[in-house]
Amino acid sequence: MHALDRTQTVTLAGAGLVGSLMAMFLARRGFQVEVLERRPDMRRETVEAGRSINLAISARGLYALKQVGLEDEARRHAIPMRGRMIHPLSGELTLQPYGKDDSQHINSISRAWLNQFLMTHAEGTGKVRIRFKQRIQSVDFDTGTLSVLDEPSGTTREERVPVLLGADGSGSAVRQAMAKLPGNTSTQDVLSHGYKELSIPAGPGGSFRMEKHALHIWPRGTFMLIALPNEDGSFTCTLFLPFEGPVSFASLDSPSKVTAFFQEQFPDAVPLIPTLTHDFFHNPTGHMVTVKSAPWHVEGRALVLGDAAHAIVPFFGQGMNCGFEDCVALDGLLARHSRWEDAFEEFFRLRKPNADAIADMAVENFIEMRDSTASPRFLLEKQVEKV
Ligand code: FAD
Repeated sequence: MHALDRTQTVTLAGAGLVGSLMAMFLARRGFQVEVLERRPDMRRETVEAGRSINLAISARGLYALKQVGLEDEARRHAIPMRGRMIHPLSGELTLQPYGKDDSQHINSISRAWLNQFLMTHAEGTGKVRIRFKQRIQSVDFDTGTLSVLDEPSGTTREERVPVLLGADGSGSAVRQAMAKLPGNTSTQDVLSHGYKELSIPAGPGGSFRMEKHALHIWPRGTFMLIALPNEDGSFTCTLFLPFEGPVSFASLDSPSKVTAFFQEQFPDAVPLIPTLTHDFFHNPTGHMVTVKSAPWHVEGRALVLGDAAHAIVPFFGQGMNCGFEDCVALDGLLARHSRWEDAFEEFFRLRKPNADAIADMAVENFIEMRDSTASPRFLLEKQVEKV
């Protein structure tokens, strides 16, 4: 039952970061891969890439790319960030290095570039077909049938799929279908903070208007601003703020209030963000969620991975990195096992404790980033470490 037959076609839900990379791993093992992606092809149409414009890729994520021969090219498009540059309300900027020397760093990379790069290389294997504007609506695991909405025509059809991998993100339709099965659990904790992206344009000649090789943080207790560098000299800022309360997205309801808030809290950032109020009122306010579910598979028929299995809040910059690590782990298990259910079962057993741990650490790191990075004790400890 459910033998791991390499002539089989595997269906993947989602051509996001994790789905596109997993498709490459599967193709390398000899499988034909059919990917169903609800968005249009972002290489041909302007599509909102979703969530953050850039993200931090760490050694874990780069290691996964290395396994499919893509690390070097990805590094050429990434900007090393050697530490956190803390912007206090008053006083000097402080760089808190991530490691003992510059070789220990994380890297800022464009989400859209990376996703397009992975899709192109997955298709380049000749074994991966990505079908866009195809939304999975529901899954019947007993019959191995998907209900798929073809967005352009508005028609729904059924597709038989022997093996389904759900990499369809934090709102995963595959996970939601699994959650209806007896004995399955799935929880979603939505953070009471939201986020908003703002832009610092490049300086003259594509120059960087702040330190290029740092992740900039303006920690302010219950809220914070961060900025990551982009290849073109710009920075993408993200404001993390409660949805409700005295200082919140709800309270900042006019351009004058937003300007006054920024002048009071982030005075050195204000001259760098010329489109502040435009960005604030035109860019969407994002939600952040922690998803915990169990188990991640239905026998040998279906498995969820990446955010679909374990979405985490972004404060450790590890969601995608963790999802990329899933791909490496699953690939290794597919090499060792002869039945899908055994590979899926071991994947869940190995990865679930790690996913739960990083989910909790990411919430804890929010408190450190927005608060403790600015505390005198933390700064002192960091100075001692440097010595
Ligand atoms: P997604 O990227 O969400 O991709 C899912 C794909 O599935 C999408 O293409 C979607 O269109 C498609 N899809 C969804 N539903 C369906 C359906 N029903 N049918 C067909 N297709 C469907 N992680 C890091 O490692 N470093 C960071 O610095 C970082 N920063 C972040 C900042 C923010 C503000 C946020 C919110 C997240 C951040 N993350 C970061 C987390 C990272 O974005 C996710 O972990 C990563 O995108 C997960 O990839 P994925 O492929 O599992 O899901």
